[in-house]
Amino acid sequence: MDDKFYNKLLSDLLELKNEIDETKNKKLDMELLERIIKRLHSFECEECKKYLKVINDQIAILKQKHNAINEKDIKEYNKMKNNVISHLQKEHKLVTKDYYIGIYMSLGITLGLIFGLSVFDNIALGLPIGLSIGLAIGTAKDEEAKKKGLVI
Ligand SMILES: [Zn+2]
Repeated sequence: MDDKFYNKLLSDLLELKNEIDETKNKKLDMELLERIIKRLHSFECEECKKYLKVINDQIAILKQKHNAINEKDIKEYNKMKNNVISHLQKEHKLVTKDYYIGIYMSLGITLGLIFGLSVFDNIALGLPIGLSIGLAIGTAKDEEAKKKGLVI
């Protein structure tokens, strides 16, 4: 991706960020989009290049709508954003913030329930154990990912 296109994209994003109100900024999570753009730019990958163009188009649409951006636009935008994120996860082994906590907490709850029932014969006992183990592993994995610079 040539730098001219990339720099233009970043400045368009900044303009859009300044033009729309705070609620919309939050809903669109502009900070995350900026990090996504930087990640996409850092890889020599055809798909990433394609996604940068898609984001570029999306920003142009949102800029045109300005403060008339509605829920449907936000939904479209989030769908696009999730597609890009799943590409970054699958192809480039990146993770989103608190990715592992989410996974290990639900794993911990499931295992806690199973062990609570089978080993202790008491769900109330297994659940907090499963939860705290899930939380501990998830936090450690998230920290590790952060250290390795793998968090989008
Ligand atoms: Zn890629």
